[in-house]
Parts: sequence; structure tokens; C-alpha cells
Amino acid sequence: QEFTANVSHELKTPLTSISGYAEIISENIAKPEDVPVFASRIHKESVRLINLINDIIKLSKLDGPAEMIFEETDLNDIANDAVNSLHLAAEQKNVVVTVHGQKTVVKGDKGLLFELVYNLCDNAIRYNRENGKVDVSVYSNENSAFIKVTDTGIGIHEDEQSRIFERFYRVDKSRSKETGGTGLGLSIVKHIVEQHKGSILLKSSVNIGTEITVRIPF
Ligand code: ADP
Repeated sequence: QEFTANVSHELKTPLTSISGYAEIISENIAKPEDVPVFASRIHKESVRLINLINDIIKLSKLDGPAEMIFEETDLNDIANDAVNSLHLAAEQKNVVVTVHGQKTVVKGDKGLLFELVYNLCDNAIRYNRENGKVDVSVYSNENSAFIKVTDTGIGIHEDEQSRIFERFYRVDKSRSKETGGTGLGLSIVKHIVEQHKGSILLKSSVNIGTEITVRIPF
């Protein structure tokens, strides 16, 4: 019930603004020079809605009966793929992302593991500072594989650390929205880790950075 109420609210906000700008344009009461500005706001809010709906679809799939394909998956490949797909985002913020590791094969769902690592790296870039760094490392011991994402970003206050895995919980709502966040990324991460019988460890200090380690048992 709470989730449905939150989803409705999250959908309503961008739609209200899309509807408002479109109405002004269609009634011809916008100054001609304002039309491109309003159009770009409509575009931005639509992108936000699409991202939100994509995340809700992912969560509802994870909530339902598992349709996962477990196969031998190299976490090091996944880390490199995720970082490559985020290379534009990193470049725009002047954040240097490095991957350390070697072939580390787990039994897992490739698509979901990609989603997991992508979300962690996406956050590590978005909540970083200009010219910051992100380190991704993949390693193992005899029982488990680990993937650790460390950033030099804004950090998370101790009181908030347990809450950021809740659906729609954001420390700073406007910063999350401004950078294209939906508030669902880490709840998706948590779900995927559970499906792989793994665990998550979070260490963070405000204004110093955050380190998130995911363990996937062999
Ligand atoms: P969002 O789409 O808002 O990023 P997430 O579920 O991925 O949603 O994360 C929830 C909140 O946790 C974010 O809004 C942000 O406040 C905080 N957060 C997540 N990752 C980091 C990080 N690496 N550094 C600082 N804060 C973070």
C-alpha cells in the first residue's frame, strides 16, 4: 500500500509539470522565446518518468516468481561492461573510474548482476564531486566473490545508512532528481543481492566518500 502511494506520488509530480507546460504552449500564451525552455522541461520530466517506470518494472519482476537464468558469470567482465556504459556520465563530471581485478566466476544471472554493478557505479559517479575518483575492485576468497565500489563523494550520514536501501528513500531528494535518480536503484541492488544469497556492507563518511562491498557466495 505504501509503495503504491509512493509510486502514484512520484508519477504525479512530473506529469503535473508536463501537463502545465504543454497547456501553456498549446494555448499560445507562452512567449516565443520561452517555448524551447518549456519543451526542454517537458523532455526532462518525460525522461524521468521513463526511468521511473523502467525501475518499477525491474522491481516488480524481482518481486514476482524468479525468472532468473543462473549461469557461470565473470564479475570482472560485468564490472568492465558497467564502467564502459557509464563512461560518458563519468566524463561529464570529470570523475576517473578504474577497475581492478581478475577473472572471478560466480553462478548468477548476468543481466541482474550487470544491473547491480551498474547501479552502484552510477551512484558512485552521481554522488561524487567534480574531479573525484571511483574504484571498482573484484576479488575472492575460498567461499565468496566480492565486488567493491569506492567513491570520493559526498558520503552518507550514519543515521541514513540503513535507510538508503528502502524504496524511494533519498538523502537529498532534489540532488537525486536533478541527476536523474529514481530513489529505487539501491532497493533493486538489495533485491538482486538477496536473489544471489549474498550480502552488502556499507562504509561511508560525510564529505569523504562511500564504499559498498557486495559478497556473492560461490
Ligand atoms: P537514487 O536514484 O536517488 O540515486 P538509490 O536507491 O540509488 O536512489 O540511492 C538512494 C539514496 O542513497 C540516494 O538518493 C543518495 O541520497 C544515497 N546514495 C546512494 N549512493 C550513494 C553514494 N555512493 N554516495 C552518497 N550517497 C549515496
